[in-house]
Amino acid sequence: MSQNIRVRFAPSPTGPLHIGGLRTALFNYLFAKRQGGTFILRIEDTDQSRFVSGAEDYIIESLEWCGLIPDEGPRQGGSFGPYRQSERKERYSGYALELINRGHAYHAFDTPEELENLRKKYEAKGETFVYDARVRDSLKNSLTMDRQTTEDLIAAGTPYVIRFRFEPGVEINMHDMVRGEVVVNSSTLDDKILFKSDGMPTYHLANVVDDNLMAISHVIRGEEWLPSLPLHVSLYRAFGWEHLMPQFAHLPLILKPTGKGKLSKRDGDKGGFPVFPLEWKDPGTGDVSPGYREEGYLPEACINLLALLGWNSGTEQELFSLEELVSEFQLDKVGKSGSRFDPEKAKWFNHQHLQRVPDNELIPAFSSTLESKGVSCDQEQIQTLISIIKPRINFMHEMWEQSWFFFTAPSSYDPGVVKKRWKEDTPEKMTMLADALGQCEPFIAESVETVVKNLITDNQWGMGAIMNAWRLLLVGAATGPGLFDLAAFLGKEEVISRMNSGIEKINRQKN
Ligand code: GLU
Repeated sequence: MSQNIRVRFAPSPTGPLHIGGLRTALFNYLFAKRQGGTFILRIEDTDQSRFVSGAEDYIIESLEWCGLIPDEGPRQGGSFGPYRQSERKERYSGYALELINRGHAYHAFDTPEELENLRKKYEAKGETFVYDARVRDSLKNSLTMDRQTTEDLIAAGTPYVIRFRFEPGVEINMHDMVRGEVVVNSSTLDDKILFKSDGMPTYHLANVVDDNLMAISHVIRGEEWLPSLPLHVSLYRAFGWEHLMPQFAHLPLILKPTGKGKLSKRDGDKGGFPVFPLEWKDPGTGDVSPGYREEGYLPEACINLLALLGWNSGTEQELFSLEELVSEFQLDKVGKSGSRFDPEKAKWFNHQHLQRVPDNELIPAFSSTLESKGVSCDQEQIQTLISIIKPRINFMHEMWEQSWFFFTAPSSYDPGVVKKRWKEDTPEKMTMLADALGQCEPFIAESVETVVKNLITDNQWGMGAIMNAWRLLLVGAATGPGLFDLAAFLGKEEVISRMNSGIEKINRQKN
């Protein structure tokens, strides 16, 4: 059974992959891997007018970044290739003709101008023109012409399209794994174009033919394709392939953080968060859109946050690795309603996954930041620093702003904090603290803590007042990690020098 699970992610290379598309890829991957099945990448590039250079590489790189490596695809190959529809071009016309022979499709010769005029005529009457069973008998197609005329027109090179012929008034019954039974009456559907005048199939024909040729067992895709399902199911039936028809699952939309509708690039621009996995430079306009990778997200976090947009494990657990997702994922835990994207929650996922990365693995990244700041520091100290700062940050690029004071003495002192925390007797207390620290041996976090606390207790000082003033001297502000760790890292000499010069500078600042 398991080797029959074959799913495909079938993006069109019309631009960068939206995170909604990446989630579709992820759900396909998880569904396949859970059951030992095959995850296929198929590039659907039959619409030449929408082709964007670089988009295919972008899609592949995005999948690789997330670790969603296809088992079959344009790069991997496989026994059902080629995996780019443009390279399968010759195959589709035969299928379109077969549908004509079976009475399920027809040639249509109406020119774009004629159709446009009809559209306008209908519009003037307050109606919408639909190419369907009600009108097709009065239009220029092979249903209204005799066979010879049709053949002559084709032989003369007259442009045509091939349309699907829906029988009116038929109830089309379908099953969706997320939505259950779906019924649509064929009278509400138009005779969709299957094959275009440029000799290329449309998405619908190529998609169904390839799903069949590639022995796809499950079609898992975004909800926006649900309206195409009646046509696709009808195509399977028209080809006589109903017994081979894949099962369908349409995934709920990813919704805007606030308000109605699908998450769009504009929402990202407005809210200052990426909607693409990787940075994308538009080859036409040169505009650059931010990517999760470049914004400092870990791929693990990205995958985790996407998995929970539409799926849940049925438990309270929110943090998952890719392996855990593979073993937990089930389509019956995918909900019907859209999931709201929460940019703050996205950061939270990164924070959580960052904490899971061993400190020593983060050394190279932070070392190069330090190098760029002209700071030298040995590996052991870097690792210590990472262990101190990591719990305080969401992204590695926040390391420096949270740790610069480990390397440089503050050059200014937050006036608001000075006003609040620097009282008349503070300089004297800080001088006493500096003296006590001068006696502290060994100068490690634990003994520094003992010295400071003893001094506070012996003099019956308030803990908060002393710690805040001391922080101001060491950091210049009211924020930062634990002071005992900081002091131990800085060493006795640096601590005392910062304290002495700070006392002097703040006194000057106050007067
Ligand atoms: N090429 C379609 C897309 O761009 C694929 C839809 C499907 O999976 O059937 O999303």
